[in-house]
Amino acid sequence: MTRKLGSGKLVIATHNAGKLKEIGALLAPYGLDCISAGSLGLPEPPETGTTFVANALIKARAAAEASGLPALADDSGLSVAALDGRPGVYTADWAARQWFEGAPGRDWYMAMGKVEGMLQALGPDAPRDCWFSCVLALAWPDGEYAVYEGRVDGTLTWPPRGTMGFGYDPVFVPVGRDVTFAELQPEEKHAMSHRADAFAKLVADQFA
Ligand code: IMP
Repeated sequence: MTRKLGSGKLVIATHNAGKLKEIGALLAPYGLDCISAGSLGLPEPPETGTTFVANALIKARAAAEASGLPALADDSGLSVAALDGRPGVYTADWAARQWFEGAPGRDWYMAMGKVEGMLQALGPDAPRDCWFSCVLALAWPDGEYAVYEGRVDGTLTWPPRGTMGFGYDPVFVPVGRDVTFAELQPEEKHAMSHRADAFAKLVADQFA
C-alpha cells in the first residue's frame, strides 16, 4: 500500500509560480499546507532523466531531501507516435531560443513548427497521433516515493488554432473533439487533460 501524505506541510518542487498556484488549488480541499521549493530557497536540480518519471522523481527527491518534508513534483510533455515519442522529455527544450536570437525564453511557435516539419518530412500520410503526459512524483525524506501517470491522447493539426492555454495547445486536438486545446475553455481543458488524469490518480490513492 502506498504511504499516505495525511495533512501537514508539502513542498511543491517547482520554481514556477503558475504551477504552484494550480497545484495548490487542486490540493486545497485536502488540508495540506503547500510551500514552494522556490520560497524555501531550494536549488533546482538538473533534469537529467530520459523519462517523465525519472525527471519528476529527481525533482521530488531533491526537494524532500533538502527540506526534510514530503515533496511533490511534476514533469510533462508532448509525445508524437511517428517521431518515436519525441519531443517527450525534451518538449520544453525544443522551444528554447538560441542565444543569437536575442530575446531569452521560449518560442512555442518555433517548437510547434519543428514538430510539424519533422512530421511533414515523413510524407503526407505520416500518422498524426500524439499524446500529452504528466507524471506526478511524491517523495518522502526517508526515500519512499509514489508515482502517478496521466495521459491524454490526440492528433496534431496545422496551422495552430486558438489563443487559450499555453505551450503546444494550439496544435493538439484531443480525441473525440474537433477543436484544439487552445480553443477550449480552460475548465474544459482542465477536466480532460493529462494533468487532471494524474491528479485524479494521486487523489484517489492518497485521499480516498
Ligand atoms: P515541464 O513539465 O515544466 O518540464 O514542461 C514541459 C513542457 O511540455 C511545457 O513547457 C509545455 O510546452 C509542454 N506541455 C506540458 N503540458 C502542456 C499542456 O497542457 N499544453 C501544452 N503544452 C504542454
